[in-house]
Amino acid sequence: MSHPQPAGTPDATGSADLGDLTVLNPATEEVVAVVPAADAAAVDRAVTRATAAQTRWAALAPTDRARLLRRYADTVDTHVEELAALEVREAGHLPGNARWEAGNARDLLLYAAGGVERLTGRQIPVPGGWDVTFQEPLGVVGVIAPWNFPMPIAAWGAFPALAAGNAVVLKPAETTPLTALRLAELALDAGLPEHLFQVLPGHGRVAGRALVDHPGVAKIVFTGSTRTGREVMERCARQIKRVTLELGGKSPNIVFADADLKAAADPFSFLDNSGQDCCARTRVLVQESVYDEVADHLARELAAVVVGDPTDPATTMGPLISRQQVERVRSFVPDDAPALRGGAPDGPGFWFPPTVLTGERPDSAAAREEIFGPVAVLLPFTDEQDAIRLADDTPYGLSGSVWTRDLGRALRVTQAVRAGNLSVNSHSSVRYWTPFGGYRQSGVGRELGPDALTAFTETKNVFISTEGPAQ
Ligand code: NAD
Repeated sequence: MSHPQPAGTPDATGSADLGDLTVLNPATEEVVAVVPAADAAAVDRAVTRATAAQTRWAALAPTDRARLLRRYADTVDTHVEELAALEVREAGHLPGNARWEAGNARDLLLYAAGGVERLTGRQIPVPGGWDVTFQEPLGVVGVIAPWNFPMPIAAWGAFPALAAGNAVVLKPAETTPLTALRLAELALDAGLPEHLFQVLPGHGRVAGRALVDHPGVAKIVFTGSTRTGREVMERCARQIKRVTLELGGKSPNIVFADADLKAAADPFSFLDNSGQDCCARTRVLVQESVYDEVADHLARELAAVVVGDPTDPATTMGPLISRQQVERVRSFVPDDAPALRGGAPDGPGFWFPPTVLTGERPDSAAAREEIFGPVAVLLPFTDEQDAIRLADDTPYGLSGSVWTRDLGRALRVTQAVRAGNLSVNSHSSVRYWTPFGGYRQSGVGRELGPDALTAFTETKNVFISTEGPAQ
């Protein structure tokens, strides 16, 4: 069976109307905004402006760059409610989540500002002289963001890059350009130099490709589907352009029989953001002796999920981003598939009920491919080795959880599973001060964490001879 491509990828299919971007409220289908789409010439102009701005930015004293970024954080802080409201309208996020997202952007700015004055090189002992290294900015960095967490993901690419002395041109997803545009306005309000952080809404196949192909762009940070990421990597390879890729996931939640089963089988480990989360634990792997108990728990929990407009305080799960995404998710869930199911509204809006598929084989499309909606598969395992084998039985390796009260087992399993972000007795994945990224087809490189700024630098090594000229 073929599955429609993820929403937000009309460019990749070649079937899109490449006109202005119409931003819809996914809970109501009302038009929130119509935004002009940048073409290749606009990208070229933006890169030229960014190149000049970067030279001036890198020449500022580190203290001054840090101070401006802290001021930017303060400005974002005073606009958290406004940014969150925008995220609710353009992406259908719950208000609490959206506030967290705006706060995440603010906090990352402060964290990155703290790195500006600590971006030091090393002194390495060598005979006959001194050897020192420098971390130099790359120049102009292109950031391409997806629609699922528009604000934090834009920030994760852009803010450490700015802190490391680069300029940034950001292309948000077609469906969700508004928070990124507002973040760029707030940067100017805070006093960041003009053209240092530019946001260019546009189509992936036009503005995205133009940014990737532009010789004036030193690095691309791409977050999105593995399919598009592969193309981005190929195009970057033509210029040996630096690239960080944050791609898809199909993450396991490994539940051993001795675990706190209710906490382990929390349906919001795969329903948060309506399942449109690259770290969603969509493969619930359960030791066979507690399979029925976990299934019963999930059935009760799914029935209690309130799917609806995010602005209704009773809502616990919002809409999907688009009709196209609903169709894609539906293609993995035939009406007669054995499953546990919650409810969803009728009428306008892009809805899909929370679902756990119970009759899938581990090698089925639903068990191996990223669905990117509120759908998980429940699969039994026998023992530790079987759990590890199943956990790794996808092309991805982004995140995952291990639930057990046996510390030794928790350590063995987390060491064995091939994924970039694991949690033990927890479903958390992302903190701006710890590294984030994927193994295998989930990506290349890492964002965030102590090395976030270094990823936007080149290392220069300089040897200084202490042996004077021959007498
Ligand atoms: P997508 O690949 O369709 O689009 C992502 C971005 O790339 C958009 O801005 C789009 O316009 C642009 N784009 C599309 N075609 C392009 C091209 N040919 N050249 C350059 N840019 C192009 O992904 P999506 O549907 O917007 O996002 C969902 C995907 O993102 C999921 O697979 C999800 O797992 C992944 N994701 C990964 C992470 C992570 O950190 N690993 C985080 C969030 C989302």
